[in-house]
Amino acid sequence: MPPKKEKTEADLLKEKNQQLQTLMKERFFTNPAFDLYGGKAGLHDLGPVMAPLFHNVIQEWRRHFVFHDNLQEIDATVITPSRVLEVSGHVEKFNDMKIKEKTTGELYRADKLIEELCDKALNPKQPLDPQLKEKYTIMKNEADSMSADQMKATIEELVKVTGDKRQFEDPAPFNLMFSTQIGPTGDDPAYLRPEIAQGMFMNFKACYEELNHRMPFGIAQFGKAFRNEIAPKGGLFRLREFQLAEFEYFYDPQQTTHSNLSLVKDVVVLMLTREMQEKGIEVPLEMTIEQAHTTNNPETGKPYVENQILAYYLGRTQLFLEKVGLRKEKIRFRQHLRKQMAHYARDCWDGEALSLTGWQEIVGIADRSAYDLEAHSRGTNTQLVAKRDLPEPIQKTVLVPVSKVIGQTFKQKAKPVQSYLNSLDEAGVLALKQQIETNQKATITISEGEQIELSPAMLEFKVETVREEDYIPFVVEPSYGISRILFSIIDQNFWTRPSDQNRRVISFPATLAPKQVLIQPLSVKSQKQLEICHSIEASLKHFSRLIDTGGASVGKKYARADEIGMPFGITVDGTSETDNTATLRERDSSQQVRLPITEIPKVLKKLVKGSANWETIVSQYGLVPTAEAKE
Ligand code: AMP
Repeated sequence: MPPKKEKTEADLLKEKNQQLQTLMKERFFTNPAFDLYGGKAGLHDLGPVMAPLFHNVIQEWRRHFVFHDNLQEIDATVITPSRVLEVSGHVEKFNDMKIKEKTTGELYRADKLIEELCDKALNPKQPLDPQLKEKYTIMKNEADSMSADQMKATIEELVKVTGDKRQFEDPAPFNLMFSTQIGPTGDDPAYLRPEIAQGMFMNFKACYEELNHRMPFGIAQFGKAFRNEIAPKGGLFRLREFQLAEFEYFYDPQQTTHSNLSLVKDVVVLMLTREMQEKGIEVPLEMTIEQAHTTNNPETGKPYVENQILAYYLGRTQLFLEKVGLRKEKIRFRQHLRKQMAHYARDCWDGEALSLTGWQEIVGIADRSAYDLEAHSRGTNTQLVAKRDLPEPIQKTVLVPVSKVIGQTFKQKAKPVQSYLNSLDEAGVLALKQQIETNQKATITISEGEQIELSPAMLEFKVETVREEDYIPFVVEPSYGISRILFSIIDQNFWTRPSDQNRRVISFPATLAPKQVLIQPLSVKSQKQLEICHSIEASLKHFSRLIDTGGASVGKKYARADEIGMPFGITVDGTSETDNTATLRERDSSQQVRLPITEIPKVLKKLVKGSANWETIVSQYGLVPTAEAKE
């Protein structure tokens, strides 16, 4: 018999991933949506494990960001009029490149195809020349920032190198937005929102006014986004309908400091800069947030993260991801290459999580500058601005439109005329003044491209002493791909017991666990034990719990509880019947203590809130042998 081939690390990861996929299917973590009808790629329903996990993660996100930083929380609509997304640039630019295989007609996302071919080129049968290794690594890093022509040439080269048999047509752009219509006429086009940011820009003015013109401030929301992904593969990582949580932090570009930066200065992050990726370097730099924004990147001569607000949210994001159960060493921040950035971004760092299938983007933290507010100000002739004090008061010419004359002359068009006049900055006011003084009339173009003639009776000009000036705020946008975060939590916390590879465990943090405590009798035949179980259950109404009075053994029930990550288990046994105690078991160690039943709610509360850890409880009550160990 030939010697058995040793399993490589890649084989082991693949096996573990397979085991996880099986568990997720068996225990209904998720299900393909409309499975009864054959399902649809990219659409998934969340089951009884994932749905509560989602709500718990969102709750943690709200606590960690919305409450901590006093953000304004809103809930904007999904259906978005076409005009909004034309102005924001999405109708023209929210594209991925698709590419068709000639023989099968199968469609691929071109950048993902390049990544797949690069992986193949990086793992040839013979050892790979280091220069080629660097070349294919850089190609892989740059895949989604290539032009159509570059993609075509790269794919041709990689197909040759790897001996891939497929033949492809030319790549072409594909807009990812799902279109729809508002109302029955068919002439009011709209889209399902492809990101949730626009709703927050739409409500900038209302929130700013609600806050009595206080700056800086943030607007936050969570909800679904929709993208008609070209080839959604990879479970919860590439969905056509997915959960996002985002906030827009508006600030004065003249004041890029963050008052709470010191709270995160010592947080350690792993950083992969743009320049490192351009050189094919894959080992990230480890630094504190303070170092990230005070130390110069030798390649650029500027701090790694110039904007303090961006640095603050990198630190807060690291803390959030650790809090929801991701491992320090499996989180990194990767800076976008220049060509890779979205059309609105000035700088962008992706938070990535290491899963069993590799590094995946789960968060995007972008500095969007004033792009969106500027675009919507122009698109609507509205001033989406904030005010700042001037160092010295100045004299300024201001325009006071004469509403009565404008209303009588233009009737229903009076409103867009007024909006146009109100949106003029000082230079615009002066230009209009000059026009009207020279010609005794002035022509303006209102939003639909229509020309309107104004007379001197419609406009009054005044010189005022002004102490404040308007500016368009800049914005930092941290965007959390909650669907991906949920899957990363499961992926990074999945393990099997060394004593038995079939005993599968998910170590959810206790606060987030979909079910926190299992209650079971040792003997289901004992009426007394069942009664005690029910009375314990009644005392634990504030915990998500499961009472299991089925006929399986204690060990089997704990094994099933481990599979959905229940952190604690209570067993009522013969001793409980006489001395009013029960055992409390901790999932990861499988250790047990015995404690008075009346103390269970208090102890569980401490454990779930994190005010006591398991070791403290063990030292208080002492370990007892586990029933499952005896089985
Ligand atoms: P983006 O606006 O493309 O930066 O996306 C924001 C976040 O949404 C990303 O960091 C991802 O975590 C997540 N995301 C983007 N596309 C998808 C998708 N198709 N399925 C699930 N999550 C996604």
